[in-house]
Amino acid sequence: MKFLSTRGGEKVTGARAIVKGLSDNGGLYVPERFPQVSREELEALLEMSYAERAAKIIGKYLDEFDASELLAACEGAYSRFERNDPAPLVKIDDGVFMLELWHGPTCAFKDMALTLLPYLLRKSSDICGVKEEILILVATSGDTGKAALEGFKDADGVKICVFYPSEGVSKMQKLQMSTQDGNNVNVVAVKGNFDDCQTAVKEIFASETYAEELKKKNVILSSANSINFGRLVPQIAYYFSAYADLVSSEQIEMGEEIDFAVPTGNFGNVLAAYYAKRMGLPVRRLHCASNENKIIADFLSTGVYDMNREFYKTTSPSMDILLSSNLERLVFEVSGRNAKLTAQRMSQLKEKGRYEITPEELALIQATFDGGFADEETSVEAMYGVFEDVGYTMDTHTGCAMKVVLDWFEKHKKDETKTVIVSTANPYKFPQDVLYAVTGNDVKDSFKGIKRLRAATAMAVPKCLVELRDKPVRFSKTADRKKLFDEVLEFIGK
Ligand SMILES: *Cc1c(COP(=O)(O)O)cnc(C)c1O
Repeated sequence: MKFLSTRGGEKVTGARAIVKGLSDNGGLYVPERFPQVSREELEALLEMSYAERAAKIIGKYLDEFDASELLAACEGAYSRFERNDPAPLVKIDDGVFMLELWHGPTCAFKDMALTLLPYLLRKSSDICGVKEEILILVATSGDTGKAALEGFKDADGVKICVFYPSEGVSKMQKLQMSTQDGNNVNVVAVKGNFDDCQTAVKEIFASETYAEELKKKNVILSSANSINFGRLVPQIAYYFSAYADLVSSEQIEMGEEIDFAVPTGNFGNVLAAYYAKRMGLPVRRLHCASNENKIIADFLSTGVYDMNREFYKTTSPSMDILLSSNLERLVFEVSGRNAKLTAQRMSQLKEKGRYEITPEELALIQATFDGGFADEETSVEAMYGVFEDVGYTMDTHTGCAMKVVLDWFEKHKKDETKTVIVSTANPYKFPQDVLYAVTGNDVKDSFKGIKRLRAATAMAVPKCLVELRDKPVRFSKTADRKKLFDEVLEFIGK
Protein backbone atom coordinates (compact mmCIF):
# COMPACT_ATOMS: atom_id res chain seq x y z
CA MET A 1 0.00 0.00 0.00
CA LYS A 2 1.31 3.41 -0.99
CA PHE A 3 0.45 6.79 0.50
CA LEU A 4 -0.28 10.05 -1.28
CA SER A 5 -0.07 13.64 -0.09
CA THR A 6 -3.40 15.49 0.11
CA ARG A 7 -1.60 18.31 -1.71
CA GLY A 8 -0.14 16.11 -4.41
CA GLY A 9 3.31 15.36 -5.74
CA GLU A 10 4.28 12.37 -3.62
CA LYS A 11 3.72 8.65 -3.45
CA VAL A 12 5.52 6.94 -0.57
CA THR A 13 5.42 3.73 1.43
CA GLY A 14 3.62 3.56 4.78
CA ALA A 15 6.97 3.40 6.54
CA ARG A 16 8.15 6.59 4.83
CA ALA A 17 4.85 8.34 5.61
CA ILE A 18 5.26 7.51 9.30
CA VAL A 19 8.89 8.59 9.47
CA LYS A 20 8.12 11.91 7.79
CA GLY A 21 4.79 12.69 9.43
CA LEU A 22 4.00 15.52 7.04
CA SER A 23 4.65 15.58 3.28
CA ASP A 24 7.18 18.00 1.76
CA ASN A 25 4.52 20.41 0.54
CA GLY A 26 2.74 20.46 3.89
CA GLY A 27 0.06 17.95 2.86
CA LEU A 28 -1.09 15.00 4.94
CA TYR A 29 -0.45 11.41 3.89
CA VAL A 30 -3.50 9.34 2.96
CA PRO A 31 -3.69 5.73 1.78
CA GLU A 32 -3.99 5.35 -2.00
CA ARG A 33 -7.17 3.33 -1.39
CA PHE A 34 -9.19 2.03 1.55
CA PRO A 35 -8.46 -1.64 2.21
CA GLN A 36 -11.68 -3.62 2.62
CA VAL A 37 -12.75 -5.78 5.56
CA SER A 38 -15.08 -8.53 4.37
CA ARG A 39 -18.02 -9.93 6.34
CA GLU A 40 -15.97 -13.07 7.10
CA GLU A 41 -13.08 -10.98 8.39
CA LEU A 42 -15.46 -8.92 10.51
CA GLU A 43 -16.91 -12.11 11.95
CA ALA A 44 -13.43 -13.40 12.70
CA LEU A 45 -12.76 -10.31 14.84
CA LEU A 46 -15.43 -11.45 17.31
CA GLU A 47 -13.20 -14.18 18.69
CA MET A 48 -10.08 -12.06 18.91
CA SER A 49 -8.41 -10.10 21.70
CA TYR A 50 -8.10 -6.33 21.31
CA ALA A 51 -4.42 -6.62 20.31
CA GLU A 52 -5.28 -9.20 17.64
CA ARG A 53 -8.04 -7.02 16.24
CA ALA A 54 -5.72 -4.00 16.17
CA ALA A 55 -2.93 -5.92 14.43
CA LYS A 56 -5.40 -7.14 11.77
CA ILE A 57 -6.72 -3.67 10.96
CA ILE A 58 -3.35 -1.91 11.11
CA GLY A 59 -1.73 -4.62 8.99
CA LYS A 60 -4.16 -3.86 6.15
CA TYR A 61 -2.52 -0.46 5.75
CA LEU A 62 1.04 -1.27 6.79
CA ASP A 63 1.45 -4.34 4.63
CA GLU A 64 5.25 -4.11 4.56
CA PHE A 65 5.34 -4.78 8.32
CA ASP A 66 5.80 -8.35 9.49
CA ALA A 67 2.39 -9.54 10.76
CA SER A 68 3.56 -11.54 13.75
CA GLU A 69 5.91 -8.78 14.85
CA LEU A 70 3.10 -6.23 14.55
CA LEU A 71 0.89 -8.46 16.67
CA ALA A 72 3.60 -8.77 19.33
CA ALA A 73 3.96 -4.97 19.34
CA CYS A 74 0.19 -4.52 19.77
CA GLU A 75 0.21 -7.03 22.61
CA GLY A 76 3.03 -5.13 24.30
CA ALA A 77 1.37 -1.74 23.83
CA TYR A 78 -2.06 -2.80 25.08
CA SER A 79 -0.68 -4.73 28.02
CA ARG A 80 0.19 -1.30 29.45
CA PHE A 81 -3.52 -0.64 29.98
CA GLU A 82 -5.03 -1.20 33.40
CA ARG A 83 -7.47 -3.89 32.25
CA ASN A 84 -7.47 -6.87 29.94
CA ASP A 85 -9.67 -4.95 27.56
CA PRO A 86 -8.14 -1.58 26.65
CA ALA A 87 -11.35 -0.36 24.99
CA PRO A 88 -14.36 -1.56 27.00
CA LEU A 89 -17.94 -0.73 26.06
CA VAL A 90 -20.29 0.30 28.85
CA LYS A 91 -24.03 0.34 28.31
CA ILE A 92 -25.51 3.47 29.88
CA ASP A 93 -29.04 3.27 28.50
CA ASP A 94 -31.15 1.37 25.96
CA GLY A 95 -29.19 1.52 22.74
CA VAL A 96 -26.55 3.92 24.13
CA PHE A 97 -22.99 2.83 24.91
CA MET A 98 -19.79 4.46 26.09
CA LEU A 99 -16.58 3.31 24.44
CA GLU A 100 -14.06 4.04 27.20
CA LEU A 101 -10.70 4.71 25.64
CA TRP A 102 -8.97 6.08 28.73
CA HIS A 103 -7.69 3.06 30.61
CA GLY A 104 -4.12 3.57 29.37
CA PRO A 105 -1.02 4.96 31.08
CA THR A 106 -2.00 8.66 30.80
CA CYS A 107 -5.81 8.40 31.14
CA ALA A 108 -6.77 9.79 27.71
CA PHE A 109 -7.68 8.16 24.39
CA LYS A 110 -4.38 9.31 22.91
CA ASP A 111 -2.81 6.28 24.62
CA MET A 112 -4.63 4.00 22.15
CA ALA A 113 -2.22 5.18 19.45
CA LEU A 114 0.74 6.55 21.36
CA THR A 115 1.56 3.33 23.19
CA LEU A 116 2.05 1.75 19.75
CA LEU A 117 3.57 4.63 17.78
CA PRO A 118 7.12 4.14 19.17
CA TYR A 119 7.16 0.65 17.64
CA LEU A 120 5.66 1.85 14.35
CA LEU A 121 8.23 4.61 14.12
CA ARG A 122 11.23 2.45 15.02
CA LYS A 123 10.19 -0.21 12.54
CA SER A 124 9.48 2.38 9.85
CA SER A 125 12.87 3.97 10.28
CA ASP A 126 14.52 0.53 10.03
CA ILE A 127 12.58 -0.22 6.84
CA CYS A 128 13.62 3.15 5.38
CA GLY A 129 17.23 2.72 6.52
CA VAL A 130 17.19 5.94 8.52
CA LYS A 131 20.58 6.51 10.16
CA GLU A 132 19.90 9.86 11.78
CA GLU A 133 18.55 10.48 15.25
CA ILE A 134 14.80 11.13 15.16
CA LEU A 135 13.49 14.20 16.92
CA ILE A 136 9.76 14.16 17.56
CA LEU A 137 8.10 17.53 17.86
CA VAL A 138 4.63 17.65 19.37
CA ALA A 139 2.16 20.49 19.66
CA THR A 140 -0.41 19.52 22.25
CA SER A 141 -3.74 20.80 23.49
CA GLY A 142 -3.06 18.76 26.63
CA ASP A 143 -3.44 15.04 26.21
CA THR A 144 -1.25 14.17 23.21
CA GLY A 145 1.81 15.66 24.91
CA LYS A 146 1.68 13.47 27.96
CA ALA A 147 0.76 10.33 26.04
CA ALA A 148 3.63 10.91 23.59
CA LEU A 149 6.13 11.59 26.39
CA GLU A 150 5.12 8.43 28.18
CA GLY A 151 5.25 6.42 24.94
CA PHE A 152 8.67 7.64 23.82
CA LYS A 153 10.51 8.17 27.10
CA ASP A 154 13.95 6.50 27.13
CA ALA A 155 13.39 5.07 23.63
CA ASP A 156 16.63 4.49 21.69
CA GLY A 157 17.54 6.79 18.83
CA VAL A 158 14.64 9.15 19.53
CA LYS A 159 14.24 12.44 21.35
CA ILE A 160 10.94 14.13 22.02
CA CYS A 161 10.11 17.78 22.57
CA VAL A 162 6.56 18.78 23.52
CA PHE A 163 5.12 22.28 23.18
CA TYR A 164 1.87 23.22 24.90
CA PRO A 165 -0.03 26.53 25.05
CA SER A 166 0.90 28.24 28.33
CA GLU A 167 -2.69 29.18 29.14
CA GLY A 168 -4.48 26.45 27.24
CA VAL A 169 -4.25 23.23 29.26
CA SER A 170 -5.81 22.07 32.52
CA LYS A 171 -3.78 22.05 35.76
CA MET A 172 -3.68 18.29 35.77
CA GLN A 173 -2.52 18.13 32.15
CA LYS A 174 0.22 20.66 32.88
CA LEU A 175 1.38 18.78 35.94
CA GLN A 176 1.43 15.50 34.02
CA MET A 177 3.81 17.00 31.47
CA SER A 178 6.01 19.17 33.69
CA THR A 179 6.87 16.22 35.95
CA GLN A 180 7.68 13.83 33.09
CA ASP A 181 10.68 11.59 33.61
CA GLY A 182 12.97 10.08 30.98
CA ASN A 183 16.40 11.08 29.63
CA ASN A 184 15.29 12.04 26.10
CA VAL A 185 12.34 14.36 26.83
CA ASN A 186 11.74 18.10 26.90
CA VAL A 187 8.60 20.13 27.60
CA VAL A 188 8.15 23.84 26.83
CA ALA A 189 5.13 26.10 27.36
CA VAL A 190 4.41 28.45 24.44
CA LYS A 191 2.83 31.87 24.84
CA GLY A 192 -0.57 31.83 23.10
CA ASN A 193 -3.32 29.30 22.41
CA PHE A 194 -3.17 25.84 20.82
CA ASP A 195 -3.55 27.12 17.27
CA ASP A 196 -0.53 29.43 17.73
CA CYS A 197 1.41 26.54 19.15
CA GLN A 198 0.45 24.08 16.40
CA THR A 199 1.15 26.64 13.66
CA ALA A 200 4.61 27.41 15.09
CA VAL A 201 5.49 23.71 15.21
CA LYS A 202 4.18 23.14 11.67
CA GLU A 203 6.43 26.01 10.52
CA ILE A 204 9.46 24.19 11.87
CA PHE A 205 8.44 21.11 9.87
CA ALA A 206 7.92 23.19 6.72
CA SER A 207 11.24 25.09 6.86
CA GLU A 208 14.02 23.91 4.58
CA THR A 209 16.56 26.05 6.43
CA TYR A 210 15.76 24.31 9.71
CA ALA A 211 15.88 20.90 8.05
CA GLU A 212 19.35 21.70 6.67
CA GLU A 213 20.54 22.86 10.05
CA LEU A 214 19.27 19.69 11.71
CA LYS A 215 20.73 17.50 8.99
CA LYS A 216 24.19 18.83 9.83
CA LYS A 217 23.58 17.64 13.35
CA ASN A 218 22.47 14.25 12.07
CA VAL A 219 18.86 14.77 13.21
CA ILE A 220 15.58 14.39 11.32
CA LEU A 221 12.14 15.50 12.47
CA SER A 222 9.04 13.42 12.92
CA SER A 223 5.62 14.04 14.38
CA ALA A 224 3.50 12.28 16.98
CA ASN A 225 0.48 14.49 16.27
CA SER A 226 -2.56 13.05 14.53
CA ILE A 227 -1.29 14.48 11.25
CA ASN A 228 1.02 11.43 11.32
CA PHE A 229 -0.65 8.42 9.73
CA GLY A 230 0.99 6.25 12.40
CA ARG A 231 -1.16 8.05 14.95
CA LEU A 232 -4.32 7.66 12.94
CA VAL A 233 -4.12 4.00 12.00
CA PRO A 234 -4.27 2.47 15.52
CA GLN A 235 -7.37 4.60 16.11
CA ILE A 236 -9.27 2.89 13.30
CA ALA A 237 -9.00 -0.38 15.21
CA TYR A 238 -11.18 0.57 18.18
CA TYR A 239 -14.16 1.28 15.95
CA PHE A 240 -13.98 -2.25 14.63
CA SER A 241 -13.43 -3.59 18.13
CA ALA A 242 -16.49 -1.76 19.50
CA TYR A 243 -18.58 -3.16 16.68
CA ALA A 244 -17.33 -6.70 17.31
CA ASP A 245 -18.15 -6.32 21.01
CA LEU A 246 -21.69 -5.14 20.24
CA VAL A 247 -22.25 -8.15 18.02
CA SER A 248 -20.75 -10.68 20.42
CA SER A 249 -22.77 -9.31 23.34
CA GLU A 250 -25.88 -9.59 21.13
CA GLN A 251 -26.68 -5.90 21.30
CA ILE A 252 -26.76 -5.75 17.50
CA GLU A 253 -27.01 -8.19 14.61
CA MET A 254 -23.98 -8.69 12.39
CA GLY A 255 -24.31 -6.16 9.56
CA GLU A 256 -26.58 -3.74 11.45
CA GLU A 257 -25.53 -0.12 11.05
CA ILE A 258 -24.63 1.92 14.12
CA ASP A 259 -23.79 5.56 14.91
CA PHE A 260 -20.74 6.91 16.67
CA ALA A 261 -20.58 10.23 18.51
CA VAL A 262 -17.09 11.67 18.89
CA PRO A 263 -15.77 14.63 20.91
CA THR A 264 -13.83 16.43 18.20
CA GLY A 265 -10.85 18.78 18.19
CA ASN A 266 -8.19 18.13 15.59
CA PHE A 267 -10.59 15.74 13.77
CA GLY A 268 -8.27 12.74 14.17
CA ASN A 269 -10.54 10.54 16.22
CA VAL A 270 -13.67 10.96 14.10
CA LEU A 271 -11.64 10.70 10.89
CA ALA A 272 -10.52 7.25 12.03
CA ALA A 273 -14.22 6.34 12.35
CA TYR A 274 -14.77 7.53 8.78
CA TYR A 275 -11.85 5.41 7.57
CA ALA A 276 -13.43 2.42 9.36
CA LYS A 277 -16.69 3.07 7.50
CA ARG A 278 -14.85 3.33 4.18
CA MET A 279 -13.24 -0.04 4.96
CA GLY A 280 -16.67 -1.60 5.22
CA LEU A 281 -17.62 -1.28 8.89
CA PRO A 282 -21.44 -0.93 9.07
CA VAL A 283 -21.59 2.67 10.29
CA ARG A 284 -24.60 4.88 9.57
CA ARG A 285 -23.78 8.32 10.97
CA LEU A 286 -20.92 10.09 12.70
CA HIS A 287 -21.95 12.80 15.15
CA CYS A 288 -19.12 15.27 15.70
CA ALA A 289 -19.27 17.14 18.98
CA SER A 290 -17.60 20.50 19.54
CA ASN A 291 -17.49 22.79 22.54
CA GLU A 292 -18.04 26.55 22.14
CA ASN A 293 -15.27 26.55 19.54
CA LYS A 294 -17.82 25.13 17.13
CA ILE A 295 -16.01 25.70 13.87
CA ILE A 296 -16.52 22.07 12.80
CA ALA A 297 -20.23 22.07 13.63
CA ASP A 298 -20.60 25.20 11.50
CA PHE A 299 -18.56 23.70 8.66
CA LEU A 300 -20.64 20.53 8.65
CA SER A 301 -23.85 22.51 8.31
CA THR A 302 -22.70 25.24 5.87
CA GLY A 303 -19.62 24.00 4.01
CA VAL A 304 -17.75 27.14 5.05
CA TYR A 305 -14.67 26.77 7.21
CA ASP A 306 -14.08 30.15 8.80
CA MET A 307 -11.47 30.78 11.46
CA ASN A 308 -12.26 34.48 11.68
CA ARG A 309 -14.07 34.17 14.96
CA GLU A 310 -13.55 34.43 18.66
CA PHE A 311 -11.53 31.74 20.41
CA TYR A 312 -12.93 30.45 23.72
CA LYS A 313 -11.09 28.81 26.57
CA THR A 314 -13.34 26.08 27.91
CA THR A 315 -13.35 23.24 30.43
CA SER A 316 -12.76 20.82 27.54
CA PRO A 317 -9.32 22.21 26.58
CA SER A 318 -8.38 19.34 24.23
CA MET A 319 -11.15 20.61 21.94
CA ASP A 320 -10.18 24.30 22.11
CA ILE A 321 -9.03 24.28 18.52
CA LEU A 322 -9.91 26.34 15.47
CA LEU A 323 -7.39 24.91 13.03
CA SER A 324 -8.52 21.33 12.80
CA SER A 325 -5.71 19.67 10.86
CA ASN A 326 -7.23 16.34 9.93
CA LEU A 327 -10.25 17.87 8.26
CA GLU A 328 -7.92 18.28 5.28
CA ARG A 329 -8.02 14.50 4.81
CA LEU A 330 -11.83 14.50 4.61
CA VAL A 331 -11.98 17.50 2.32
CA PHE A 332 -9.47 15.74 0.06
CA GLU A 333 -11.72 12.65 -0.11
CA VAL A 334 -14.94 14.50 -0.97
CA SER A 335 -13.19 16.62 -3.60
CA GLY A 336 -12.74 13.38 -5.52
CA ARG A 337 -9.16 13.25 -4.24
CA ASN A 338 -8.34 16.49 -6.03
CA ALA A 339 -4.91 17.40 -4.62
CA LYS A 340 -4.62 20.65 -6.52
CA LEU A 341 -7.94 21.92 -5.20
CA THR A 342 -7.09 20.77 -1.68
CA ALA A 343 -3.76 22.61 -1.82
CA GLN A 344 -5.55 25.77 -3.01
CA ARG A 345 -8.06 25.57 -0.19
CA MET A 346 -5.35 25.06 2.40
CA SER A 347 -3.42 28.05 1.13
CA GLN A 348 -6.63 30.12 1.28
CA LEU A 349 -7.05 28.93 4.82
CA LYS A 350 -3.53 30.04 5.63
CA GLU A 351 -3.91 33.44 3.97
CA LYS A 352 -7.52 34.37 4.67
CA GLY A 353 -8.44 32.00 7.49
CA ARG A 354 -11.32 30.68 5.38
CA TYR A 355 -12.32 28.32 2.59
CA GLU A 356 -15.52 26.91 1.21
CA ILE A 357 -16.50 23.60 -0.36
CA THR A 358 -19.12 23.08 -3.07
CA PRO A 359 -22.75 22.10 -2.28
CA GLU A 360 -22.09 18.69 -3.88
CA GLU A 361 -19.10 18.09 -1.62
CA LEU A 362 -21.08 19.24 1.40
CA ALA A 363 -23.88 16.81 0.53
CA LEU A 364 -21.33 13.98 0.41
CA ILE A 365 -20.08 14.92 3.87
CA GLN A 366 -23.57 15.31 5.28
CA ALA A 367 -24.52 11.86 4.06
CA THR A 368 -22.40 10.58 6.94
CA PHE A 369 -21.45 13.44 9.24
CA ASP A 370 -23.42 15.85 11.36
CA GLY A 371 -22.11 18.27 13.92
CA GLY A 372 -23.36 19.79 17.12
CA PHE A 373 -21.91 21.58 20.09
CA ALA A 374 -22.28 22.10 23.81
CA ASP A 375 -21.49 25.29 25.67
CA GLU A 376 -20.24 25.29 29.25
CA GLU A 377 -23.72 25.17 30.69
CA THR A 378 -25.30 22.55 28.46
CA SER A 379 -22.35 20.14 28.74
CA VAL A 380 -22.60 20.34 32.53
CA GLU A 381 -26.35 19.67 32.27
CA ALA A 382 -25.73 16.59 30.15
CA MET A 383 -23.07 15.24 32.53
CA TYR A 384 -25.24 15.92 35.55
CA GLY A 385 -28.33 14.38 33.96
CA VAL A 386 -26.61 11.11 33.14
CA PHE A 387 -24.95 10.95 36.55
CA GLU A 388 -28.31 11.49 38.26
CA ASP A 389 -30.23 9.06 36.05
CA VAL A 390 -27.85 6.15 35.74
CA GLY A 391 -24.89 6.95 37.99
CA TYR A 392 -22.39 7.16 35.14
CA THR A 393 -19.59 9.74 35.37
CA MET A 394 -17.93 11.13 32.24
CA ASP A 395 -15.25 13.74 31.60
CA THR A 396 -15.90 17.22 30.19
CA HIS A 397 -15.05 16.34 26.56
CA THR A 398 -17.32 13.31 26.57
CA GLY A 399 -19.93 15.59 28.18
CA CYS A 400 -20.01 17.65 24.97
CA ALA A 401 -20.64 14.50 22.93
CA MET A 402 -23.36 13.43 25.36
CA LYS A 403 -25.14 16.73 24.85
CA VAL A 404 -24.94 16.39 21.06
CA VAL A 405 -26.38 12.87 21.25
CA LEU A 406 -29.23 14.05 23.49
CA ASP A 407 -30.00 16.76 20.93
CA TRP A 408 -30.03 14.15 18.16
CA PHE A 409 -32.46 11.93 20.11
CA GLU A 410 -34.67 14.95 20.74
CA LYS A 411 -34.85 15.65 17.01
CA HIS A 412 -35.18 12.01 15.90
CA LYS A 413 -37.49 10.47 18.45
CA LYS A 414 -38.13 7.24 16.57
CA ASP A 415 -34.51 6.57 15.73
CA GLU A 416 -33.61 3.07 16.89
CA THR A 417 -30.05 3.00 15.63
CA LYS A 418 -27.63 2.09 18.41
CA THR A 419 -25.24 4.86 19.38
CA VAL A 420 -21.70 4.50 20.68
CA ILE A 421 -20.30 7.60 22.38
CA VAL A 422 -16.52 7.68 22.26
CA SER A 423 -15.38 8.54 25.78
CA THR A 424 -12.02 10.24 25.48
CA ALA A 425 -10.68 10.93 28.98
CA ASN A 426 -10.81 9.60 32.50
CA PRO A 427 -13.04 11.97 34.53
CA TYR A 428 -10.26 12.33 37.11
CA LYS A 429 -8.17 14.12 34.51
CA PHE A 430 -10.49 17.11 34.93
CA PRO A 431 -11.47 16.60 38.56
CA GLN A 432 -12.67 20.07 39.48
CA ASP A 433 -14.86 20.53 36.42
CA VAL A 434 -16.35 17.04 36.65
CA LEU A 435 -16.96 17.50 40.38
CA TYR A 436 -18.75 20.75 39.64
CA ALA A 437 -20.88 19.06 36.97
CA VAL A 438 -22.01 16.17 39.11
CA THR A 439 -22.31 17.84 42.55
CA GLY A 440 -22.30 21.60 42.00
CA ASN A 441 -19.26 21.90 44.30
CA ASP A 442 -16.39 24.17 43.40
CA VAL A 443 -12.93 23.42 44.77
CA LYS A 444 -9.70 25.26 43.96
CA ASP A 445 -7.24 22.42 44.27
CA SER A 446 -7.06 19.53 41.76
CA PHE A 447 -6.18 16.92 44.38
CA LYS A 448 -8.99 18.03 46.62
CA GLY A 449 -11.18 17.73 43.52
CA ILE A 450 -10.03 14.14 43.08
CA LYS A 451 -10.84 13.31 46.69
CA ARG A 452 -14.30 14.84 46.56
CA LEU A 453 -15.07 13.30 43.19
CA ARG A 454 -14.13 9.93 44.58
CA ALA A 455 -16.48 10.47 47.51
CA ALA A 456 -19.29 11.45 45.15
CA THR A 457 -18.83 8.72 42.52
CA ALA A 458 -16.92 5.87 44.22
CA MET A 459 -14.91 5.50 41.00
CA ALA A 460 -11.36 4.17 41.39
CA VAL A 461 -8.72 6.89 41.16
CA PRO A 462 -5.91 6.10 38.69
CA LYS A 463 -2.53 5.82 40.36
CA CYS A 464 -0.73 7.84 37.68
CA LEU A 465 -2.75 10.94 38.62
CA VAL A 466 -2.46 10.62 42.41
CA GLU A 467 1.31 10.14 42.11
CA LEU A 468 1.73 13.51 40.44
CA ARG A 469 1.27 15.26 43.72
CA ASP A 470 4.70 14.20 44.98
CA LYS A 471 6.62 14.28 41.73
CA PRO A 472 9.18 17.07 41.26
CA VAL A 473 8.54 19.57 38.46
CA ARG A 474 11.32 19.20 35.87
CA PHE A 475 10.13 21.56 33.14
CA SER A 476 8.91 25.10 33.78
CA LYS A 477 10.12 27.10 30.79
CA THR A 478 7.83 29.37 28.75
CA ALA A 479 8.96 30.42 25.26
CA ASP A 480 7.84 32.91 22.65
CA ARG A 481 6.22 31.15 19.69
CA LYS A 482 8.67 32.77 17.27
CA LYS A 483 11.58 31.19 19.13
CA LEU A 484 10.65 27.53 19.24
CA PHE A 485 13.48 26.46 16.99
CA ASP A 486 15.98 27.92 19.49
CA GLU A 487 14.41 25.67 22.10
CA VAL A 488 14.80 22.71 19.77
CA LEU A 489 18.50 23.46 19.19
CA GLU A 490 19.16 23.93 22.85
CA PHE A 491 17.47 20.64 23.60
CA ILE A 492 19.38 18.55 21.07
CA GLY A 493 22.50 20.34 22.27
CA LYS A 494 24.92 19.58 19.47
C1 LIG B 1 -7.47 14.97 21.84
C2 LIG B 1 -8.76 14.91 22.55
C3 LIG B 1 -9.97 15.16 21.90
C4 LIG B 1 -10.03 15.57 20.45
O1 LIG B 1 -9.64 14.53 19.59
P1 LIG B 1 -9.24 14.84 18.06
O2 LIG B 1 -8.72 13.58 17.53
O3 LIG B 1 -8.18 15.92 18.15
O4 LIG B 1 -10.45 15.32 17.38
C5 LIG B 1 -11.14 15.01 22.62
N1 LIG B 1 -11.13 14.69 23.92
C6 LIG B 1 -9.99 14.46 24.58
C7 LIG B 1 -10.04 14.13 26.03
C8 LIG B 1 -8.76 14.55 23.93
O5 LIG B 1 -7.62 14.32 24.59
